[in-house]
Amino acid sequence: MGRVTGRSCIVTGAAQGIGRAISEALLAEGASVCFADINGEKVADISAEYRKTFGANVVTHSQVDVTDRAAVCAMINHTVATFGKLDVKFNNAGVNKPMNFLDVTEENWRFINDVNGLGCLIGMQEAAKQFISQGTFGKIINTASIASRQGFDNVAPYCASKFGVVALTQSGARDLAKHNITVTGFAPGVVDTEMWEQVDQDLMDIGASKRPGQAMEEFSSEILRGRVAKPQDITGTTTFLAAAESDYMTGQIVMIDGGMTLV
Ligand code: NAD
Repeated sequence: MGRVTGRSCIVTGAAQGIGRAISEALLAEGASVCFADINGEKVADISAEYRKTFGANVVTHSQVDVTDRAAVCAMINHTVATFGKLDVKFNNAGVNKPMNFLDVTEENWRFINDVNGLGCLIGMQEAAKQFISQGTFGKIINTASIASRQGFDNVAPYCASKFGVVALTQSGARDLAKHNITVTGFAPGVVDTEMWEQVDQDLMDIGASKRPGQAMEEFSSEILRGRVAKPQDITGTTTFLAAAESDYMTGQIVMIDGGMTLV
């Protein structure tokens, strides 16, 4: 018996990085998982890989833009049609696009805050409506960040969006408790994923760092555990948040940053 056996889960941003690792860990502990991502081709390929091991009854996928409410509803309906219900919704899809503070544009702000903020809100609302219509206990789990706890230079809109994820987690926990729904989140530090490769390039493009890898080195120099995270460093906690072991928790954000920010 796995830690999440029988739980039907959706993970957004599941085509790569942290979302993919969350999904794989859930499958290994007995869950059914809908891999959801805006990159339809990649998420179809990834989920097809996992179907070879876990079977079509426990792996499905959905192409979804988390800012598109109709697409989010379609993703949830597809998951329920496939697995019979929804138990756990991870709002993990996220984007970043560093800019110097004085250069941040409305377009940059809207792009980041739409996906990381509005996308999280829509995901929470539509999952909650599904739990309420099922009449079952439900769990919503949001991906926050160390940038939810401190403002960092060159990524102000990202930090604002991730502070927003904490606010949504706390507000959602209070609003949805009466419906037997919990809302939690986790806050990674520096995780070696494709996102960081792009951030590294973006920081060079705006002149904030000079060579590949410099930004990650400087950014993570104060990690007490002495190294950046791999996606698999995150998944013990994410499976715990999806499992019955954490059913009494709500409104909390768990830091998983190797001791980078002690808040
Ligand atoms: P990633 O870029 O490797 O993966 C993100 C995935 O989200 C991609 O597959 C992408 O296609 C998908 N996505 C982007 N916009 C989307 C949209 N509108 N709708 C649906 N899917 C969309 O990033 P990652 O490092 O795996 O990050 C995952 C989450 O963790 C994000 O919320 C990120 O902000 C957060 N996070 C990452 C780090 C890190 O160091 N990598 C640290 C803290 C928090």
